[in-house]
Amino acid sequence: MDCIFCHIVSGKIPSDIVYQDEKVIAFRDINPQSPVHLLVIPREHFTSLADLTEKEAHLMGHMVGVANQLARDEGISGTGYRLVINCGKQGGQLVPHLHLHVMGGRQLSGQLG
Ligand code: 5GP
Ligand code: ZN
Repeated sequence: MDCIFCHIVSGKIPSDIVYQDEKVIAFRDINPQSPVHLLVIPREHFTSLADLTEKEAHLMGHMVGVANQLARDEGISGTGYRLVINCGKQGGQLVPHLHLHVMGGRQLSGQLG
């Protein structure tokens, strides 16, 4: 499948990987919107959040756990951060492989869109 994030998982497209395990990888966003801007993605291809069911509850919990650990590692846990998943076109999703944004290191706006 010609998916940019699957190519990052396979190593075909290079990225600045900050964490990986058997289920997920995390890397720095190529166009960061905040001093810390990471993406946590499952190795398995899910096109969007809408593809997840209760069956994947453990995966989602793991992604949040990894995001929280990375926030601590990046030193933004105390000051605060934002986890975002854009879903579908009107949700602002551009890359069709499920990803969790981890953003922090500056005051983020209170606006949600
Ligand atoms: P979305 O709008 O789909 O929620 O966010 C996609 C994110 O992926 C954007 O923040 C964009 O900068 C990032 N991105 C797109 N292509 C690449 C890439 O090839 N490498 C990395 N590291 N990030 C990417
Ligand atoms: Zn993919």
